Amino acid sequence: MKPEEQYWNPILETLPREKLQQFQLKKFKSILKWAYENSPFYRSLYKDAGLEPGDIKTLDDIRKVPKTEKSMLREAQGKKPYPYGSILSVPIEQVTEYRQTSGTTGQPVYHPETWQDWEWSAESWAYALYAYGYRDYDRVFLPFGYSINIAFWAGHYAAEKIGCEVVPGGMLDTEARILKMKEIRATAFMATPTYILGMADTARKLGLDPAKDLYIKKITAAGEPGACVPATKKRMEEAWGAKVYDQVGATEIGHWGFECQAQAGLHVLEAFHLVEIEDIDTGATITEPGKRGSMVITTFDRFAHPCLRFDSKDIIEWSPVERCECGRTFRLLKGGVVGRADDITKVKGVLLAPTAIEEVVRDIPELGDEYEVIVTKKGDIDDIALKVEINPDAKRNVGAIEQKLVQQLRLKTGLRYNLEFHDYGTLPRYDVKAKRFKDLRHKE
Ligand SMILES: [Zn+2]
Repeated sequence: MKPEEQYWNPILETLPREKLQQFQLKKFKSILKWAYENSPFYRSLYKDAGLEPGDIKTLDDIRKVPKTEKSMLREAQGKKPYPYGSILSVPIEQVTEYRQTSGTTGQPVYHPETWQDWEWSAESWAYALYAYGYRDYDRVFLPFGYSINIAFWAGHYAAEKIGCEVVPGGMLDTEARILKMKEIRATAFMATPTYILGMADTARKLGLDPAKDLYIKKITAAGEPGACVPATKKRMEEAWGAKVYDQVGATEIGHWGFECQAQAGLHVLEAFHLVEIEDIDTGATITEPGKRGSMVITTFDRFAHPCLRFDSKDIIEWSPVERCECGRTFRLLKGGVVGRADDITKVKGVLLAPTAIEEVVRDIPELGDEYEVIVTKKGDIDDIALKVEINPDAKRNVGAIEQKLVQQLRLKTGLRYNLEFHDYGTLPRYDVKAKRFKDLRHKE
């Protein structure tokens, strides 16, 4: 395949590392200067730290720049001009888009974009969709209610930018979406992993096999970690007979990582972002593979609401693969976003990432897609209940399945669970993002 057919931007996606780093340094300096000169929030943050934009001369110098985090954004938006506050770095008349974070962890963060920023968002998504194989002949279905949150809006525009035909399936229910996708022979769609599995379930209830009766070839999975959990990815790909690609982003940051067709990890979109990994305990920068830490990210070229050295709390690690077989030079992360610092809790003194339980449950074919984890305290001791669904034809083998589950959970998470087996279809189903992990300890 010729480079122009393989990459959305053949030059930037294959830039030698050294040149890519020079490019990133230049971009970092430019957004730093922009934020310093135009945002009262950033100017006062940097002045307090005794930092001038001219102090940054190398990539290592970037570590001198103070970090930001969500609570600081919330505080800044309490100031003028309403509602964006002191981070806003353009005259408010230039803002053309309003979005907000989902607010699952508190008061939402308002997010303004200029038309140019919005173009940036669509362009950044185009890199990813093109990497998954979206082309001008694809008919892309958006089984998604367009809302006040940013999710999939940029995916819609990026697919159009590539030249795909985009079908907005927002106001339909799940059954109607499936039937429409079949009727018009949609070849791709975008959704959360929870919904990708949920839609397959609904299709089967309609008497359809999504892998045989529909025409889907590629699926963009975003909004949750599922597509980076191997067992969940396998379930989704088998259900749909299609490739499922993991994509990551957040409102404040934009889209920042995608899988290529080699599916060898998550490529950081380094032409648009600088990603650093910090050790959670020491704050030291991790540059080598194999060590997990928290992501600190800078977004280039987004001007209304700059995002510099933002501590996203995403847990990630560099991949040992130095050069991906796809030819892209953007660095790879192993296993995508492994979890969020907020989600990783200590249970019985052991660090537990909910995705580790997901990997075990979904790797056992006799169990359904749904599960629920409830952590409570009995006296001084933590108790973990794991509820799983057993498929109807596997009911007589519960003993053997239980044994396998106990053993794998022990191996992958180092913990013991009180297991509950439920009939298939009886645990709660979620439409978009699931809440399968419930830590009730602080409430008792
Ligand atoms: Zn690749």
